[in-house]
Amino acid sequence: MLNTKSYKFWFCTGSQDLYGDECLRKVAEHSKIIVERLNASGILPYEVVWKPTLITNELIRRTFNEANMDEECAGVITWMHTFSPAKSWILGLQEYRKPLLHLHTQFNEEIPYDTIDMDFMNENQAAHGDREYAHIVTRMGIERKVIVGHWTDAEVQERIAAWMRTAVGIIESSHIRVMRVADNMRNVAVTEGDKVEAQLKFGWEIDAYPVNEIAESVAAVSEADTNALVEEYYSKYEILLEGRDPAEFRRHVAVQAQIEIGFERFLEEKGYHALVTHFGDLGALKQLPGLAIQRLMEKGYGFGAEGDWKVAAMVRLMKIMTVGKKDAKGTSMLEDYTYNMVKGKEGILQAHMLEICPSIAEGPISIKCQPLSMGDREDPARLVFTSKTGAGIATSLVDLGNRFRLIIQDVECKKVEKPMPKLPVATDFWTPQPDLYTGTEAWLLAGGAHHTAFTYDLNAEQMGDWANAMGIEAVYIDENTNIRDFKKDLMLGSVYYR
Ligand code: MN
Repeated sequence: MLNTKSYKFWFCTGSQDLYGDECLRKVAEHSKIIVERLNASGILPYEVVWKPTLITNELIRRTFNEANMDEECAGVITWMHTFSPAKSWILGLQEYRKPLLHLHTQFNEEIPYDTIDMDFMNENQAAHGDREYAHIVTRMGIERKVIVGHWTDAEVQERIAAWMRTAVGIIESSHIRVMRVADNMRNVAVTEGDKVEAQLKFGWEIDAYPVNEIAESVAAVSEADTNALVEEYYSKYEILLEGRDPAEFRRHVAVQAQIEIGFERFLEEKGYHALVTHFGDLGALKQLPGLAIQRLMEKGYGFGAEGDWKVAAMVRLMKIMTVGKKDAKGTSMLEDYTYNMVKGKEGILQAHMLEICPSIAEGPISIKCQPLSMGDREDPARLVFTSKTGAGIATSLVDLGNRFRLIIQDVECKKVEKPMPKLPVATDFWTPQPDLYTGTEAWLLAGGAHHTAFTYDLNAEQMGDWANAMGIEAVYIDENTNIRDFKKDLMLGSVYYR
Protein backbone atom coordinates (compact mmCIF):
# COMPACT_ATOMS: atom_id res chain seq x y z
CA MET A 1 0.00 0.00 0.00
CA LEU A 2 2.93 2.28 0.56
CA ASN A 3 4.31 1.82 -2.93
CA THR A 4 5.36 5.22 -4.15
CA LYS A 5 7.13 5.87 -7.42
CA SER A 6 10.88 5.41 -7.72
CA TYR A 7 11.35 9.14 -7.50
CA LYS A 8 14.49 10.89 -8.70
CA PHE A 9 15.87 14.40 -8.27
CA TRP A 10 17.57 16.31 -11.05
CA PHE A 11 20.84 18.07 -10.36
CA CYS A 12 21.10 21.19 -12.51
CA THR A 13 24.28 23.25 -12.50
CA GLY A 14 24.22 26.80 -13.73
CA SER A 15 27.06 28.53 -15.55
CA GLN A 16 27.73 30.64 -18.64
CA ASP A 17 30.10 30.51 -21.62
CA LEU A 18 32.04 33.66 -20.71
CA TYR A 19 35.03 31.74 -19.34
CA GLY A 20 35.57 29.34 -22.22
CA ASP A 21 35.18 25.63 -22.89
CA GLU A 22 37.88 24.54 -20.47
CA CYS A 23 35.99 26.16 -17.61
CA LEU A 24 32.68 24.57 -18.73
CA ARG A 25 34.37 21.18 -18.97
CA LYS A 26 35.48 21.49 -15.36
CA VAL A 27 32.07 22.68 -14.25
CA ALA A 28 30.49 19.57 -15.76
CA GLU A 29 33.17 17.34 -14.29
CA HIS A 30 32.73 18.81 -10.82
CA SER A 31 28.95 18.54 -10.82
CA LYS A 32 29.18 14.92 -12.02
CA ILE A 33 31.50 14.13 -9.12
CA ILE A 34 29.13 15.78 -6.65
CA VAL A 35 26.18 13.77 -7.99
CA GLU A 36 28.15 10.53 -7.86
CA ARG A 37 29.30 11.09 -4.30
CA LEU A 38 25.88 12.19 -3.10
CA ASN A 39 24.41 8.99 -4.52
CA ALA A 40 27.21 6.91 -2.97
CA SER A 41 26.77 8.55 0.46
CA GLY A 42 24.01 6.14 1.45
CA ILE A 43 22.28 9.07 3.13
CA LEU A 44 19.90 10.17 0.38
CA PRO A 45 16.61 8.27 0.16
CA TYR A 46 16.27 8.97 -3.56
CA GLU A 47 18.64 9.06 -6.51
CA VAL A 48 20.13 12.28 -7.84
CA VAL A 49 20.37 12.50 -11.64
CA TRP A 50 23.03 14.68 -13.27
CA LYS A 51 21.86 17.05 -16.02
CA PRO A 52 24.01 18.92 -18.56
CA THR A 53 25.17 22.36 -17.42
CA LEU A 54 22.55 25.06 -17.93
CA ILE A 55 23.92 28.09 -19.74
CA THR A 56 21.18 29.45 -21.99
CA ASN A 57 17.61 30.63 -21.54
CA GLU A 58 16.41 27.99 -24.00
CA LEU A 59 18.11 25.09 -22.27
CA ILE A 60 17.00 26.22 -18.81
CA ARG A 61 13.41 26.58 -19.96
CA ARG A 62 13.44 23.21 -21.73
CA THR A 63 15.03 21.42 -18.74
CA PHE A 64 12.46 22.76 -16.26
CA ASN A 65 9.63 21.79 -18.56
CA GLU A 66 11.08 18.30 -18.98
CA ALA A 67 11.23 18.06 -15.19
CA ASN A 68 7.54 19.01 -15.04
CA MET A 69 6.66 16.29 -17.54
CA ASP A 70 8.81 13.51 -16.07
CA GLU A 71 6.60 11.58 -13.67
CA GLU A 72 9.59 10.19 -11.78
CA CYS A 73 11.16 13.60 -11.18
CA ALA A 74 10.13 14.84 -7.73
CA GLY A 75 12.23 17.97 -7.75
CA VAL A 76 15.18 19.91 -9.10
CA ILE A 77 18.36 20.77 -7.21
CA THR A 78 20.04 23.89 -8.56
CA TRP A 79 23.55 25.20 -7.97
CA MET A 80 25.46 27.98 -9.73
CA HIS A 81 29.03 26.76 -10.04
CA THR A 82 30.13 29.96 -11.75
CA PHE A 83 28.20 33.10 -12.48
CA SER A 84 24.93 32.47 -14.32
CA PRO A 85 23.06 35.65 -15.25
CA ALA A 86 19.73 35.14 -13.58
CA LYS A 87 17.51 36.70 -16.23
CA SER A 88 18.28 33.50 -18.14
CA TRP A 89 16.36 31.61 -15.45
CA ILE A 90 13.16 33.66 -15.40
CA LEU A 91 11.14 31.84 -18.05
CA GLY A 92 12.19 28.38 -16.91
CA LEU A 93 11.43 29.15 -13.28
CA GLN A 94 8.11 30.71 -14.23
CA GLU A 95 7.02 27.50 -15.89
CA TYR A 96 8.45 25.11 -13.31
CA ARG A 97 5.89 23.52 -10.97
CA LYS A 98 7.78 21.04 -8.76
CA PRO A 99 9.81 21.36 -5.53
CA LEU A 100 13.01 23.35 -5.87
CA LEU A 101 16.17 23.07 -3.79
CA HIS A 102 18.90 25.65 -4.02
CA LEU A 103 22.05 23.88 -2.87
CA HIS A 104 24.52 26.61 -2.09
CA THR A 105 27.85 24.86 -2.08
CA GLN A 106 31.15 24.93 -3.96
CA PHE A 107 33.35 22.18 -5.33
CA ASN A 108 36.46 22.92 -3.26
CA GLU A 109 36.19 22.95 0.48
CA GLU A 110 39.24 25.09 1.23
CA ILE A 111 40.66 28.14 -0.51
CA PRO A 112 43.81 26.85 -2.34
CA TYR A 113 46.00 29.55 -0.86
CA ASP A 114 49.19 28.67 -2.69
CA THR A 115 47.77 28.35 -6.16
CA ILE A 116 44.66 30.49 -6.26
CA ASP A 117 44.55 32.85 -9.22
CA MET A 118 41.90 34.75 -11.15
CA ASP A 119 41.01 31.74 -13.33
CA PHE A 120 40.28 29.69 -10.25
CA MET A 121 38.11 32.41 -8.79
CA ASN A 122 36.16 32.85 -12.02
CA GLU A 123 35.56 29.13 -12.18
CA ASN A 124 34.61 28.65 -8.53
CA GLN A 125 32.35 31.54 -7.68
CA ALA A 126 29.17 30.05 -6.29
CA ALA A 127 29.35 32.64 -3.50
CA HIS A 128 28.75 35.15 -6.25
CA GLY A 129 26.65 33.22 -8.78
CA ASP A 130 24.27 31.74 -6.23
CA ARG A 131 23.47 35.23 -4.91
CA GLU A 132 22.49 36.37 -8.40
CA TYR A 133 20.31 33.27 -8.78
CA ALA A 134 18.75 33.47 -5.29
CA HIS A 135 17.88 37.11 -5.95
CA ILE A 136 15.71 36.27 -8.93
CA VAL A 137 14.02 33.33 -7.18
CA THR A 138 13.16 35.64 -4.29
CA ARG A 139 12.02 38.43 -6.61
CA MET A 140 9.74 35.94 -8.37
CA GLY A 141 8.29 34.88 -5.01
CA ILE A 142 9.06 31.21 -5.61
CA GLU A 143 8.92 28.90 -2.60
CA ARG A 144 12.14 26.93 -2.41
CA LYS A 145 14.52 25.31 0.04
CA VAL A 146 17.99 26.75 0.53
CA ILE A 147 20.71 24.53 1.98
CA VAL A 148 24.15 26.03 2.58
CA GLY A 149 27.35 24.08 3.17
CA HIS A 150 29.98 21.84 1.62
CA TRP A 151 28.47 18.94 -0.31
CA THR A 152 30.68 16.37 1.45
CA ASP A 153 29.43 17.42 4.89
CA ALA A 154 27.20 14.68 6.33
CA GLU A 155 24.99 17.34 7.90
CA VAL A 156 24.40 18.94 4.49
CA GLN A 157 23.64 15.53 3.01
CA GLU A 158 21.20 14.81 5.84
CA ARG A 159 19.42 18.07 5.10
CA ILE A 160 19.19 17.22 1.40
CA ALA A 161 17.81 13.80 2.40
CA ALA A 162 15.20 15.44 4.64
CA TRP A 163 14.21 17.87 1.91
CA MET A 164 13.79 15.00 -0.56
CA ARG A 165 11.19 13.48 1.77
CA THR A 166 9.41 16.84 1.97
CA ALA A 167 9.50 17.11 -1.83
CA VAL A 168 7.95 13.66 -2.22
CA GLY A 169 5.27 14.75 0.28
CA ILE A 170 4.57 17.83 -1.85
CA ILE A 171 4.30 15.75 -5.03
CA GLU A 172 2.30 12.94 -3.43
CA SER A 173 -0.09 15.20 -1.53
CA SER A 174 -2.12 15.72 -4.67
CA HIS A 175 -2.57 11.95 -5.02
CA ILE A 176 -4.10 11.43 -1.57
CA ARG A 177 -7.69 10.19 -1.67
CA VAL A 178 -9.63 9.92 1.57
CA MET A 179 -12.66 7.68 1.92
CA ARG A 180 -15.17 8.94 4.47
CA VAL A 181 -17.26 6.16 5.98
CA ALA A 182 -20.23 8.14 7.26
CA ASP A 183 -20.04 11.80 8.29
CA ASN A 184 -18.14 13.63 11.03
CA MET A 185 -19.28 13.17 14.59
CA ARG A 186 -22.26 15.39 15.35
CA ASN A 187 -21.58 18.78 16.97
CA VAL A 188 -17.80 18.40 16.90
CA ALA A 189 -16.04 21.47 15.48
CA VAL A 190 -12.40 20.61 15.12
CA THR A 191 -12.83 17.56 12.87
CA GLU A 192 -14.77 19.66 10.34
CA GLY A 193 -13.33 21.70 7.51
CA ASP A 194 -13.67 22.95 3.98
CA LYS A 195 -13.11 19.97 1.69
CA VAL A 196 -13.14 22.06 -1.47
CA GLU A 197 -10.43 24.31 -0.07
CA ALA A 198 -8.48 21.22 1.02
CA GLN A 199 -8.51 19.98 -2.56
CA LEU A 200 -7.46 23.40 -3.86
CA LYS A 201 -4.64 23.74 -1.35
CA PHE A 202 -3.42 20.18 -0.84
CA GLY A 203 -4.85 18.27 -3.79
CA TRP A 204 -6.75 15.87 -1.53
CA GLU A 205 -9.87 14.12 -2.82
CA ILE A 206 -12.27 13.49 0.02
CA ASP A 207 -15.34 11.38 -0.74
CA ALA A 208 -18.10 9.98 1.43
CA TYR A 209 -19.64 6.51 1.22
CA PRO A 210 -22.69 5.14 3.01
CA VAL A 211 -21.37 2.83 5.71
CA ASN A 212 -23.45 -0.09 4.47
CA GLU A 213 -21.71 -0.03 1.11
CA ILE A 214 -18.43 -0.94 2.80
CA ALA A 215 -20.25 -3.23 5.25
CA GLU A 216 -21.35 -5.27 2.21
CA SER A 217 -17.73 -5.61 1.16
CA VAL A 218 -16.96 -6.86 4.68
CA ALA A 219 -19.84 -9.37 4.62
CA ALA A 220 -18.57 -10.71 1.29
CA VAL A 221 -15.25 -11.84 2.82
CA SER A 222 -15.18 -15.64 3.02
CA GLU A 223 -14.83 -17.54 6.26
CA ALA A 224 -11.66 -19.18 4.95
CA ASP A 225 -9.99 -15.81 4.29
CA THR A 226 -11.13 -14.51 7.66
CA ASN A 227 -9.84 -17.54 9.53
CA ALA A 228 -6.47 -17.38 7.79
CA LEU A 229 -6.05 -13.81 9.00
CA VAL A 230 -7.18 -14.73 12.52
CA GLU A 231 -4.45 -17.39 12.53
CA GLU A 232 -1.94 -14.70 11.57
CA TYR A 233 -3.16 -12.49 14.44
CA TYR A 234 -2.89 -15.37 16.91
CA SER A 235 0.66 -16.17 15.82
CA LYS A 236 1.79 -12.56 15.82
CA TYR A 237 0.18 -11.06 18.93
CA GLU A 238 -0.30 -12.06 22.54
CA ILE A 239 -3.86 -13.02 23.34
CA LEU A 240 -5.12 -11.50 26.59
CA LEU A 241 -8.37 -13.29 27.37
CA GLU A 242 -8.81 -11.57 30.75
CA GLY A 243 -11.35 -14.17 31.78
CA ARG A 244 -13.28 -14.29 28.52
CA ASP A 245 -14.26 -17.55 26.92
CA PRO A 246 -11.56 -18.40 24.32
CA ALA A 247 -14.05 -19.35 21.59
CA GLU A 248 -16.12 -16.22 22.15
CA PHE A 249 -12.93 -14.12 22.17
CA ARG A 250 -11.84 -15.62 18.88
CA ARG A 251 -15.22 -14.83 17.30
CA HIS A 252 -14.77 -11.20 18.28
CA VAL A 253 -11.30 -11.14 16.79
CA ALA A 254 -12.64 -12.74 13.61
CA VAL A 255 -15.05 -9.82 13.18
CA GLN A 256 -12.05 -7.48 13.01
CA ALA A 257 -10.21 -9.78 10.60
CA GLN A 258 -13.20 -9.75 8.29
CA ILE A 259 -13.38 -5.95 8.56
CA GLU A 260 -9.67 -5.61 7.76
CA ILE A 261 -9.96 -7.67 4.59
CA GLY A 262 -13.29 -6.16 3.51
CA PHE A 263 -12.12 -2.59 4.09
CA GLU A 264 -8.81 -3.14 2.34
CA ARG A 265 -10.47 -4.67 -0.72
CA PHE A 266 -12.90 -1.77 -0.88
CA LEU A 267 -10.13 0.82 -0.51
CA GLU A 268 -7.99 -0.88 -3.15
CA GLU A 269 -10.82 -1.32 -5.61
CA LYS A 270 -11.81 2.32 -5.36
CA GLY A 271 -8.27 3.72 -5.09
CA TYR A 272 -8.29 5.31 -1.63
CA HIS A 273 -5.23 5.73 0.62
CA ALA A 274 -6.84 6.99 3.79
CA LEU A 275 -10.14 6.57 5.57
CA VAL A 276 -12.26 7.78 8.42
CA THR A 277 -14.90 6.01 10.49
CA HIS A 278 -17.39 7.18 13.11
CA PHE A 279 -18.31 5.04 16.10
CA GLY A 280 -21.85 6.41 16.06
CA ASP A 281 -22.60 5.42 12.49
CA LEU A 282 -21.64 1.81 11.88
CA GLY A 283 -24.59 0.49 9.86
CA ALA A 284 -24.35 -3.28 9.50
CA LEU A 285 -20.82 -3.48 10.95
CA LYS A 286 -20.84 -5.58 14.11
CA GLN A 287 -17.98 -3.76 15.83
CA LEU A 288 -16.26 -0.42 15.59
CA PRO A 289 -13.25 -1.18 13.38
CA GLY A 290 -10.37 -1.28 15.87
CA LEU A 291 -7.73 -3.92 15.31
CA ALA A 292 -8.65 -3.75 11.61
CA ILE A 293 -7.90 -0.03 11.41
CA GLN A 294 -4.68 -0.45 13.39
CA ARG A 295 -3.47 -3.01 10.87
CA LEU A 296 -4.49 -0.88 7.89
CA MET A 297 -2.59 2.09 9.32
CA GLU A 298 0.46 -0.12 9.74
CA LYS A 299 0.18 -1.02 6.05
CA GLY A 300 0.34 2.68 5.15
CA TYR A 301 -3.27 3.86 5.08
CA GLY A 302 -4.07 7.16 6.70
CA PHE A 303 -6.78 7.18 9.37
CA GLY A 304 -8.82 9.71 11.27
CA ALA A 305 -11.44 8.86 13.90
CA GLU A 306 -14.94 10.36 14.21
CA GLY A 307 -14.83 11.48 10.60
CA ASP A 308 -11.58 13.42 10.98
CA TRP A 309 -10.51 13.48 7.31
CA LYS A 310 -7.79 16.11 7.87
CA VAL A 311 -5.97 13.79 10.27
CA ALA A 312 -6.52 10.82 7.93
CA ALA A 313 -4.88 12.69 5.05
CA MET A 314 -2.04 13.98 7.26
CA VAL A 315 -1.26 10.49 8.60
CA ARG A 316 -1.16 9.19 5.03
CA LEU A 317 1.06 12.10 3.97
CA MET A 318 3.50 11.45 6.81
CA LYS A 319 3.59 7.75 6.02
CA ILE A 320 4.53 8.59 2.42
CA MET A 321 7.17 11.08 3.52
CA THR A 322 8.82 8.47 5.76
CA VAL A 323 8.61 5.54 3.36
CA GLY A 324 11.68 3.29 3.43
CA LYS A 325 13.35 5.31 6.18
CA LYS A 326 16.09 3.38 7.90
CA ASP A 327 15.25 2.59 11.53
CA ALA A 328 11.88 4.30 11.23
CA LYS A 329 10.03 4.42 14.58
CA GLY A 330 6.51 4.94 13.34
CA THR A 331 3.64 7.25 12.45
CA SER A 332 0.10 7.25 13.81
CA MET A 333 -3.02 9.17 14.59
CA LEU A 334 -3.07 10.00 18.29
CA GLU A 335 -5.35 11.87 20.65
CA ASP A 336 -4.56 13.97 23.71
CA TYR A 337 -6.40 12.23 26.52
CA THR A 338 -5.16 12.74 30.06
CA TYR A 339 -2.42 14.75 31.79
CA ASN A 340 0.11 13.86 34.40
CA MET A 341 0.55 17.15 36.21
CA VAL A 342 2.95 16.00 38.90
CA LYS A 343 5.86 18.43 38.97
CA GLY A 344 8.88 17.06 37.15
CA LYS A 345 6.87 14.21 35.64
CA GLU A 346 4.53 16.20 33.44
CA GLY A 347 3.16 14.77 30.23
CA ILE A 348 0.12 13.95 28.15
CA LEU A 349 -1.16 10.41 27.82
CA GLN A 350 -1.90 9.78 24.15
CA ALA A 351 -4.41 7.14 23.14
CA HIS A 352 -7.70 6.66 21.38
CA MET A 353 -10.72 4.45 21.79
CA LEU A 354 -8.88 1.85 19.70
CA GLU A 355 -7.18 3.15 16.61
CA ILE A 356 -3.45 3.65 17.23
CA CYS A 357 -0.96 2.41 14.64
CA PRO A 358 1.29 -0.43 15.87
CA SER A 359 4.22 1.03 13.91
CA ILE A 360 4.91 3.19 17.00
CA ALA A 361 4.82 0.22 19.41
CA GLU A 362 7.70 -0.90 21.54
CA GLY A 363 7.64 -4.28 23.21
CA PRO A 364 4.90 -6.87 23.03
CA ILE A 365 1.63 -6.21 21.24
CA SER A 366 -1.44 -7.96 22.59
CA ILE A 367 -5.05 -8.33 21.57
CA LYS A 368 -7.70 -7.40 24.07
CA CYS A 369 -11.43 -7.49 23.74
CA GLN A 370 -13.39 -5.10 25.91
CA PRO A 371 -16.58 -3.09 25.80
CA LEU A 372 -16.50 0.41 24.35
CA SER A 373 -17.92 3.06 26.58
CA MET A 374 -19.57 4.61 23.52
CA GLY A 375 -21.77 3.30 20.72
CA ASP A 376 -24.04 0.31 20.67
CA ARG A 377 -22.01 -2.56 19.19
CA GLU A 378 -20.16 -5.71 20.24
CA ASP A 379 -17.00 -5.42 22.30
CA PRO A 380 -14.34 -4.70 19.70
CA ALA A 381 -10.95 -6.43 19.56
CA ARG A 382 -7.98 -4.11 19.55
CA LEU A 383 -4.17 -4.15 19.70
CA VAL A 384 -2.73 -2.89 22.97
CA PHE A 385 0.84 -1.72 23.45
CA THR A 386 3.01 1.11 24.70
CA SER A 387 5.18 3.21 22.41
CA LYS A 388 8.78 4.09 21.73
CA THR A 389 10.67 6.81 23.55
CA GLY A 390 12.44 9.76 21.97
CA ALA A 391 11.71 12.88 19.97
CA GLY A 392 8.71 13.18 17.70
CA ILE A 393 6.39 15.75 16.20
CA ALA A 394 2.67 16.13 16.71
CA THR A 395 0.82 18.05 14.03
CA SER A 396 -2.67 19.45 13.85
CA LEU A 397 -4.15 20.89 10.68
CA VAL A 398 -7.03 23.17 11.58
CA ASP A 399 -9.50 25.06 9.42
CA LEU A 400 -9.83 28.60 10.80
CA GLY A 401 -12.66 29.54 8.47
CA ASN A 402 -10.60 31.71 6.15
CA ARG A 403 -7.50 29.53 6.00
CA PHE A 404 -5.79 26.35 7.13
CA ARG A 405 -3.15 26.45 9.84
CA LEU A 406 -0.67 23.65 10.50
CA ILE A 407 0.48 23.50 14.11
CA ILE A 408 3.72 21.59 14.57
CA GLN A 409 4.80 20.68 18.06
CA ASP A 410 8.06 19.04 19.14
CA VAL A 411 7.40 16.41 21.79
CA GLU A 412 9.55 14.08 23.86
CA CYS A 413 8.06 10.59 24.19
CA LYS A 414 8.66 8.78 27.43
CA LYS A 415 7.72 5.61 29.23
CA VAL A 416 5.02 6.05 31.83
CA GLU A 417 6.21 5.42 35.36
CA LYS A 418 4.05 2.38 35.97
CA PRO A 419 2.10 -0.11 33.88
CA MET A 420 -1.60 0.61 33.34
CA PRO A 421 -3.09 -2.90 33.41
CA LYS A 422 -6.69 -1.77 33.35
CA LEU A 423 -6.33 0.45 30.29
CA PRO A 424 -7.47 -1.56 27.25
CA VAL A 425 -5.92 0.67 24.58
CA ALA A 426 -2.54 1.42 23.04
CA THR A 427 -0.79 4.50 24.42
CA ASP A 428 2.04 6.91 23.94
CA PHE A 429 3.12 9.44 26.56
CA TRP A 430 4.91 12.67 25.84
CA THR A 431 5.98 15.98 27.23
CA PRO A 432 5.49 18.79 24.75
CA GLN A 433 8.32 21.28 24.23
CA PRO A 434 9.35 23.53 25.83
CA ASP A 435 7.36 22.14 28.81
CA LEU A 436 3.84 20.90 29.43
CA TYR A 437 2.47 24.28 30.49
CA THR A 438 3.98 26.55 27.84
CA GLY A 439 3.62 23.96 25.08
CA THR A 440 -0.03 23.35 25.89
CA GLU A 441 -0.77 27.06 26.32
CA ALA A 442 0.63 27.70 22.85
CA TRP A 443 -1.31 24.73 21.39
CA LEU A 444 -4.57 26.07 22.85
CA LEU A 445 -3.88 29.61 21.62
CA ALA A 446 -3.19 28.26 18.13
CA GLY A 447 -6.51 26.36 18.13
CA GLY A 448 -4.87 22.92 17.85
CA ALA A 449 -7.11 19.86 17.90
CA HIS A 450 -7.18 16.90 20.27
CA HIS A 451 -6.51 14.54 17.34
CA THR A 452 -2.98 14.72 15.94
CA ALA A 453 -0.96 13.19 13.16
CA PHE A 454 2.20 12.08 14.92
CA THR A 455 5.54 10.70 13.80
CA TYR A 456 8.98 9.96 15.22
CA ASP A 457 10.48 10.06 11.73
CA LEU A 458 10.08 13.63 10.47
CA ASN A 459 11.08 16.96 11.94
CA ALA A 460 9.28 20.26 12.27
CA GLU A 461 11.30 21.81 9.45
CA GLN A 462 10.08 19.17 7.01
CA MET A 463 6.42 19.64 7.90
CA GLY A 464 6.80 23.43 7.90
CA ASP A 465 8.38 23.32 4.45
CA TRP A 466 5.51 21.17 3.23
CA ALA A 467 3.00 23.69 4.64
CA ASN A 468 4.87 26.57 2.97
CA ALA A 469 4.77 24.72 -0.34
CA MET A 470 1.01 24.30 0.07
CA GLY A 471 0.69 28.03 0.72
CA ILE A 472 -0.71 27.65 4.24
CA GLU A 473 0.29 29.00 7.62
CA ALA A 474 2.64 26.91 9.77
CA VAL A 475 3.31 27.61 13.44
CA TYR A 476 5.96 25.89 15.50
CA ILE A 477 5.93 25.00 19.17
CA ASP A 478 9.39 23.91 20.26
CA GLU A 479 12.15 24.41 22.82
CA ASN A 480 12.39 28.11 21.85
CA THR A 481 8.69 28.89 22.21
CA ASN A 482 7.66 31.65 24.56
CA ILE A 483 4.07 32.83 24.68
CA ARG A 484 4.69 36.49 23.96
CA ASP A 485 6.51 35.76 20.68
CA PHE A 486 4.14 32.95 19.83
CA LYS A 487 1.16 35.29 20.03
CA LYS A 488 2.99 37.66 17.68
CA ASP A 489 3.46 34.74 15.24
CA LEU A 490 -0.28 34.10 15.35
CA MET A 491 -1.06 37.79 14.82
CA LEU A 492 1.34 37.92 11.86
CA GLY A 493 -0.29 34.83 10.38
CA SER A 494 -3.74 36.34 10.72
CA VAL A 495 -2.60 39.38 8.73
CA TYR A 496 -0.60 37.54 6.10
CA TYR A 497 -2.99 34.67 5.42
CA ARG A 498 -6.26 36.58 5.26
MN1 MN B 1 -11.30 10.96 18.93
